[in-house]
Amino acid sequence: MANTIQAIRGMHDVLPEQTPLWQHAETIIREVMASYGYSEIRLPIVEKTELFKRSIGEVTDIVEKEMYTFDDRNGDSLTLRPEGTAGCLRACLEHSLLNGQTHRLWYYGPMYRHERPQKGRYRQFIQLGVETYGMAAPDIDAELILLMDRLWKRLGIRDKVRLQLNSLGTIEERKAYREELVAYFQQHLDTLDEDSQRRLHTNPLRILDTKNPAMQEVVSKAPELMAYLGEDSLQHFKAITATLDDLAIPYEINTRLVRGLDYYSKTVFEWVTDELGSQGTVCAGGRYDSLIEQLGGKPNFAVGFAMGMERLLALMETLASIQPAKPVDVYMVRVGTQAERAGLRFAEALRAAIPALKLQINIDGGSFKSQFKKADKSGADYAVIIGDDEAVRGEISLKPLRDGQGQQSLSQQQAIGFLRDYLAARQKAVVNPLN
Ligand code: ATP
Ligand code: MG
Repeated sequence: MANTIQAIRGMHDVLPEQTPLWQHAETIIREVMASYGYSEIRLPIVEKTELFKRSIGEVTDIVEKEMYTFDDRNGDSLTLRPEGTAGCLRACLEHSLLNGQTHRLWYYGPMYRHERPQKGRYRQFIQLGVETYGMAAPDIDAELILLMDRLWKRLGIRDKVRLQLNSLGTIEERKAYREELVAYFQQHLDTLDEDSQRRLHTNPLRILDTKNPAMQEVVSKAPELMAYLGEDSLQHFKAITATLDDLAIPYEINTRLVRGLDYYSKTVFEWVTDELGSQGTVCAGGRYDSLIEQLGGKPNFAVGFAMGMERLLALMETLASIQPAKPVDVYMVRVGTQAERAGLRFAEALRAAIPALKLQINIDGGSFKSQFKKADKSGADYAVIIGDDEAVRGEISLKPLRDGQGQQSLSQQQAIGFLRDYLAARQKAVVNPLN
């Protein structure tokens, strides 16, 4: 191992035995997105650094210390995207998609943040992002919550997550609150940790978000933003909770929920879990109307969220009902020079006739005995056997590997029919969602 190269710290491989669970989650995500009429958008992984500085804000954890920023060969400052909201909005503004239209979009892919790696916190991680544009009514905020509620249910982890909800009001409402908050914290300067003292003048709302146990008391007694909201913000918030009540979606109002990013207004929400230690937020989002103007667009409306796939997968891994998928249905044993060629031809004929069949052929020869061992290890239900005799007759032998029944000789056409029936019967009987 001395001379091998390792992956970058905090950037992980997803090995073949783990991919079925990812694919299962990805399939369900696609179905749920489609069922609410959302379209996929695909965006670059690298953007101009300026985009993130302008959208996320200079005094956030992300821009201050987490971005992977570099100069490319032209000397332009570029950044590996730490999140998708900015790039998605950049694309929609660039292609004039926001003029008098509404959009419901989703994207899926890697994000990069230079954080201290630990369970549930990586330097490359995958997010599902959902962004909607052009809709002011609280029903769209609620729709995003309903969509996630459905996704949790479809993935079998609804009982593992809880919804937390808050309203941050408008920028003006927050300004008045901010002054009160700074005044309050100034009276308790000695209890604030170094990070919070620094934030007191840059981003005081973030202090409410602290995970420092020594500060919990001072934070819990701080003034509440809810009391500073105007009529419009309050109505918007009440309309969302009314919809959730109506549809029996449980939620907790958490007046300390502020989110790390500067661009939110009115609604913010998080789906949290108690099962992943301090990395308890699986999905987070809210309304960010003002970001559109901040990035050069006309006044408009935007609501969205992002979900961390690694944290989602960590929750799904605890489900006993999900077993690894079977990568191979049929393994082809080929012994003899003629048989190898005939086998390859028949394998291609099988794949053309039954596209859903998972067929693996033996490579690198070996005796019948050693090839059967490999067939068994592959997990296949059947071995298709071709020796030189079969090759000459245009036949194959079919051997069930799991139920102890005997081997039978079939014409290639009969074998295609047999395997087609086998696959149809298995697909009907599927109980395991990963197969
Ligand atoms: P946290 O408070 O955990 O740092 P955040 O507020 O920085 O999260 P967002 O930027 O809102 O997170 O991203 C939304 C989701 O993306 C998070 O809830 C989480 O599931 C996931 N996520 C964020 N950062 C990471 C990371 N470094 N590794 C894995 N997942 C992450
Ligand atoms: Mg973070």
